[in-house]
Amino acid sequence: MVRVETLRVELGERSYDVRIGAGILDELGPAAAALGNVAQVVIISDSTVAELYGQRACASLEGASLRTTLVHFPAGEASKNLATVREIYDRLFAISPPIDRNCLIVALGGGVPGDVAGFIAATALRGLRWVQTPTTLLGAVDASIGGKTGVDHETGKNLIGAFHQPQAVLIDVETLKTLAPQELRSGLAECVKHAFIRDATLLDFIESNAEALLSCESEPLTELIARNVAIKASVVADDERECGVRAHLNFGHTLGHGIETFVGYGNISHGQAVALGMIAACRLAEGKDLVDASLRERLTTVLKSLSLAVHWKDLDADAIWRIMQHDKKAVAGRPRFILPTELGKVDIFDDVSEKEVKQVIASLE
Ligand code: NAD
Repeated sequence: MVRVETLRVELGERSYDVRIGAGILDELGPAAAALGNVAQVVIISDSTVAELYGQRACASLEGASLRTTLVHFPAGEASKNLATVREIYDRLFAISPPIDRNCLIVALGGGVPGDVAGFIAATALRGLRWVQTPTTLLGAVDASIGGKTGVDHETGKNLIGAFHQPQAVLIDVETLKTLAPQELRSGLAECVKHAFIRDATLLDFIESNAEALLSCESEPLTELIARNVAIKASVVADDERECGVRAHLNFGHTLGHGIETFVGYGNISHGQAVALGMIAACRLAEGKDLVDASLRERLTTVLKSLSLAVHWKDLDADAIWRIMQHDKKAVAGRPRFILPTELGKVDIFDDVSEKEVKQVIASLE
């Protein structure tokens, strides 16, 4: 019997189920039909995922008697912009018979198709229902839960968007087997992040199963994703619009975003940058006597076991500091940090100085 996990994101009338397991993509048709009053479905994907899984998703929907159109755009972060959104609107409004409010959007792919498709769903005809079928680990444990949608602007990532919760999330762990190893590792870094902010026992699980997870074994992967979805769902349920504790999810991201921008998208994965950011955050916490060095040592060991780098050459602390000052989460030009106070707990700190930040960047070399 293949293990399937079902979790619920509790958001009152915007609540939805998340189904996780091997072969779940074939449930897409019945799940879409069960929503009721679905006149037609538009799947939005990227070129790589459409090629790998587009036909299977279409077959499942058509098998449930749902008229389905598959739209895709070139894979990668460079497509996450308003030009792509515009092209998808053009395709959407050219469909015959025309789409109406009973059109269901399906996001098929990683965080990029998820964010783009969600933004289309939030805005087309003033809001359409949508279902997420994430195919990257990052998409499964993070991007698909919580209803943040949007695209990048030339001046920064995710500057245009909307909160728009999906009706359901279906995570087929088998689809992760075709992921590039660096994409898998990137998602694993986010899982370590969840352990550090909320659940020490999740860290034990990752440590004991590192090899099986790197080999994409379905059982441990299903458990890993379920445990991470539970954490993300509980944070989102407490703070849907990021007014408070949802900021805890940015552990490792303050410096991680700075490093990602400095090194350049495509030259470092998001998760790898977050991994370095988490090490830096632990060191900052040590400087404030919040934790001792053993926390950073444990983090470093687990990241290494997941084949993530714990050092990075040629980081320019001045340049990274300047990038961080312009981060949309900075307060009066001072980056806001999420620092550990013990394993499984973090807090928000606005008093980290330029000198402290530059010192920890230097220590990552
Ligand atoms: P992505 O969607 O670009 O996927 C990474 C690469 O993997 C792409 O080339 C894609 O084509 C390929 N791919 C996807 N699934 C595959 C599969 N099963 N097999 C083979 N190849 C596959 O990027 P990502 O890392 O999934 O997500 C990053 C994006 O997510 C960023 O834009 C980030 O801002 C966003 N994000 C959003 C949220 C949110 O809450 N909405 C949270 C975290 C991240």
